[in-house]
Parts: sequence; structure tokens; C-alpha cells
Amino acid sequence: MYNIYLEENKLKYELNELVKMFLKPSEFQLVGPEAKAEAQVCVEGMDDKNEAKRFLFDQLSRLTGQTPDWGTLTGVRPVKLAMEQFRKGYDADQVRRILKETYYLSDEKIELLVNLCLLQREILKDCDPDAVGIYAGIPFCPTRCVYCSFTSNQVKYEKIPPYLRALHKEINFVGEHLRTIGRKAESIYIGGGTPTTLTAEDLRELIARIQSAVDMSGVREFTVEAGRPDTITEEKLRVIRDSGVGRISINPQSMKQRTLDLIGRSHTPEEIRSAFRKAKEMRIPIINADLITGLPEENPEDFRHTLEEIIQLDPENITVHTLAVKRASRLIEQDADYHYRQGEVVREMLFIASKLLTEAGYHPYYLYRQKHMSGNFENVGWSKPGTESIYNIRIMEEDQTIVAMGAGGISKMYYPEENRLERIPNVSNYEIYIDRIDEMIERKRKGIE
Ligand code: SF4
Repeated sequence: MYNIYLEENKLKYELNELVKMFLKPSEFQLVGPEAKAEAQVCVEGMDDKNEAKRFLFDQLSRLTGQTPDWGTLTGVRPVKLAMEQFRKGYDADQVRRILKETYYLSDEKIELLVNLCLLQREILKDCDPDAVGIYAGIPFCPTRCVYCSFTSNQVKYEKIPPYLRALHKEINFVGEHLRTIGRKAESIYIGGGTPTTLTAEDLRELIARIQSAVDMSGVREFTVEAGRPDTITEEKLRVIRDSGVGRISINPQSMKQRTLDLIGRSHTPEEIRSAFRKAKEMRIPIINADLITGLPEENPEDFRHTLEEIIQLDPENITVHTLAVKRASRLIEQDADYHYRQGEVVREMLFIASKLLTEAGYHPYYLYRQKHMSGNFENVGWSKPGTESIYNIRIMEEDQTIVAMGAGGISKMYYPEENRLERIPNVSNYEIYIDRIDEMIERKRKGIE
């Protein structure tokens, strides 16, 4: 057990997060000033955040022998930080130097970030700076995954129509409000939960409602998440295709039946294959597949097998997540230290991902991190050139207003002059959302300018 003293000031929270990158909660305790003389690590008298973090990093490295790849960065948006350096006018070499000297990033992560920034700048160069992203959430799933920390409810069908009526009301308002304030939509994303939990008819009406309420003339991308393969039918895919939706996401997570059972997904690998085949036959232009590294009981060869199968199914995008064990998940109740033990396994899996995906013609196009990720790694979206999702880039870089509708939706009003975001949350309980829909609308009327 290590004793660590962090002076009581505004840096303490972030410094504590950095400690957790090196040590499990059971391996250290924060001590007060009365015990600092005996502490193995001691940070005090430092006001500069980066200097304090480097100082702490050096001490922890000496103590544990570790040098985490993401250096002193504890935040979830490292690309945003790198992009800010480019916006300040630094060139790629200067940004590399800043990432190395100020934040201690590994060479591999530096190259990844710099390349992502250059690619994203190219993709977004002709965008309307006033355009917004639109999100509509369907907070229902057939079963709850063991690692889930989202708004996800398992309900009988009769619970769904009242929710959709409230959502349609919010969509109508948002469409009208955006026209009034002269802002267009750039991308639309129906997520969840699992939107394909809806019936084909409900899904058709939802897409049509959005398309008639919102000015679609500036929309570059429309995604519907079709996360659970067991919710995908030919009829729903036809609705999606005939509505002009250009992108869907089918989320296998793993192709191993034992893993799917363990994580609480009620489908088989064959249902995954079948969903991809149907979507391809239906000629949906862009299909994304979400995978997760570090799932319970999986070894690197299991992950390799999953990835090889998915590459064979030929999606345009493959998003490789690292399992994050969030506080609201069932997994953390079962095993609080799970993600600490998984570091080396995940490192190997990510190496396999990078190699196989590069060989298959994919490149990384967006990246983010989460708290409590196995090995403190990252989630990376890979794409075939020209099929990158604008919505995904935008939501991670926080440089655009996102209007989020439905239970659990958190809108973010972006003020570019101050590079600042104002959050406008909806309630996350879907029944309370229905009851208080007028209040949710009122919040948007006031908050979205
Ligand atoms: S599909 Fe997604 S939202 Fe639904 S239970 Fe699983 S992790 Fe949660």
C-alpha cells in the first residue's frame, strides 16, 4: 500500500486521476498533511497543472516501473487537445514536440494523434460552421449488456408508443426552432439503446418525422444504430434504405458465443453474419461494426478470430472499443478491479487490431478515451477512406452544437468565440421524460441559440 500526499487545491482531482493510471484503488491511499513526511509520493507547492502532472508522473514511474502510453493525459479527448495546438498555429512537428515534452505521450500515440488531426481537418474543411448535429435517442434494448452504463430499458411494446409521441413532439419543436434561428443540420444520428428495437413502422415514422421537421438541405450524414443483430429484420433494413439513411451500425462486440452469453447479449454469431449479409444485400451505403477488446474470458486469439470474421463481412467502418467498466454497470459490481488486470491482454488485442485493419485498408479517423478503460487505452474508429462518420468526429471534438433529443439526451451548445460548451440535459428516465416533455422543450428553446 502506497501513501500518497496531494496538496488540497484545484489540481487534486486530476492528479488523483493520474495516480489511478498507475495504481489500483486498493494499492494506494491519499494521506493528509500530518502524514506527508512518510508518503512515498508527495506533490505540493505547484500551481501549474502540467508541471504538477509531469512531476507526479515521474515519481509514479520510478515507483512502479510503468510509463503509460498516454503520458500525463487523463482526459477523454486527446485529439481535441492536439487539435487545439494546430489551431494555435503550430505545425505538425511543433505539435509532436508539445505532446512529447508537455504531456509525455509515447511516440506511437503522438503519431496517431497528429495523423488524426490532419485527416479530420481535411474532412471538415468545407463544413458550415453554424451547422448542428442532431441526435435522437431510443432508450430500449432487448436485454441489458453486463458492461452497459447507458440509458437502456427492457420493456413491453405498450411502453414504447407514448415515448415516441413525446419524442415526435420534441423533434417537431427542434426542427421549427432551428429554422427560426437560421441553423441547419449537418448530421443526424438515431442512437440508443437500440433504435431497431422499434417496429419497422415505428422506425419509418420516426425517420419521416425527422426528415419533415428538420431542414435536410445541409445534411451530409444520417445514421441509424442497429446495434443488436437480433433486432434487425429485412423489413427494418428496407425502411432504413428507402428513407435515404446512409449509415447504420451493427454491433457484434464479439463473434464468440460464450462471450456473447457472458456479456448478456441474446444473439448468436450466426445472427451477426446474417444481419451483415442482409444489410449488404440491401445496399446500405455505410455499415459500421463495433467491437470490444478486453471482454470477459477472451484472449488475444479470440479477438483476432472476431476481427478476421468481421473484416470478411466487409463493413466500411470498424470501431474498436476498449472495455470500460463504468460505475453504473453490472460488471463493476461483479469485479471492481477487472479493468486493471486486463491491461496486457488489451494491449495485445489493440496491436492485432492495428495490424489487421491497416492491412485490410482501414485507417483510424476518430478516437476517444473513457474513464476506467482496461489498461487506460482508447477507442478508435477505423474506416475505409472516404467513409468517415462526421457525427462521430464532431461529438468527440466538441466543436459543434449538438441537439440531443429523447430520454438521456444531453445537448451541447457550442460558443466558438469562447471555445465553450453549455450542456442542456434531458432527464434520463424515459417515463419522466414523457411526463416532462414540455419542460425538455422549454430548456432547448432557452438554451439553443
Ligand atoms: S446494446 Fe448498448 S445500450 Fe443496449 S444494453 Fe447493450 S450496451 Fe447498453
